[in-house]
Amino acid sequence: MKAAILLEPNKFEIKETFTPPCPTKGVLVKVKACGICSSDIKMVTKGHRALVYPRILGHEISGVVAESRSKDFKEGDRVQVAPGLRCGLCVQCREGADNQCKHREILGFTRDGGFAEYVAIPLAGRLFGALTLLSANLSYESATFAEPVACCINAQNRVNIKEGDAVMIVGAGTLGLLHSMTARLRGAETILMIEPDTLRRKIAYDFGADRVFDSADENLCQSVMDETDETGVDVIIFACSQAGLNKKFINMLASGGRISIFSGIPSQLSKLILDSNFIHYKEITITGAYGCSAGQNREAIELISSKNLPVADIITCRVSLDNIYKGFEQTSSKESIKSIVEF
Ligand SMILES: [Zn+2]
Ligand SMILES: [Zn+2]
Repeated sequence: MKAAILLEPNKFEIKETFTPPCPTKGVLVKVKACGICSSDIKMVTKGHRALVYPRILGHEISGVVAESRSKDFKEGDRVQVAPGLRCGLCVQCREGADNQCKHREILGFTRDGGFAEYVAIPLAGRLFGALTLLSANLSYESATFAEPVACCINAQNRVNIKEGDAVMIVGAGTLGLLHSMTARLRGAETILMIEPDTLRRKIAYDFGADRVFDSADENLCQSVMDETDETGVDVIIFACSQAGLNKKFINMLASGGRISIFSGIPSQLSKLILDSNFIHYKEITITGAYGCSAGQNREAIELISSKNLPVADIITCRVSLDNIYKGFEQTSSKESIKSIVEF
């Protein structure tokens, strides 16, 4: 099969490699579409804590079952692939938080992923994955958004976004826009966003934000207060690799406010310097969110499909596997938002 193989940081090769065998009690999926995520860019340029070389990247995968040795799926089934493999036995797995499984492996990080014609998914045994069947109305490209939407669901569960909340989303890239759509479906009344780029600010309005601020706005805090009747926002989600939590954001929060540290950020920005008394007096909750569970992938497919979530409208660039470089280039540029590889 043809695959894009990352040999080491910044060294890619698109070449023929062996097609993985269909696992016992698993399936071989012929990839139809695979999203390019900013974490893929990070892995290409800098490496990643969970990455093992050489590696076929790609964790936002949809495709068709080409061969099945599982009783649950048959050849021709259209599926979304949840990228996590879990043990099913540890405490985290038993509680449904398998994104924190002690033995977790991730397709596109520690195992080969979707920037290839085929990907092998074990569905039983020591470590196993999860597939969700796609309804006929759901396209392969829309299904690639299930994984990032599932990550949003995970984060929004942890900050408990609910009816009537005012939510601030920092960053209007793919994940910021998906957070905005997901929060609205959960009943968020006001959605504010912060974004330095003019074009992205405009796009954020198209996807339903009530107000999008320029991160350079010197009166940001007051503007947020003006938009929320001087109460502040209930939730802040950091969906941006260039902004860290600091006092400015704490000041925008209403009493009882919740914060989601959703994006990993460079270590020079990641140190928290906060007055713990602010957290004490305002009863602030700070949560982290990393990845998503198998159940949240299923939930995301259900959400995208039943609510006709216009996720595919975020796509600004479609490339073939041979042109994956262009997709990476576009993902790093400000002019483009989401790139996907189509087969
Ligand atoms: Zn991702
Ligand atoms: Zn486990």
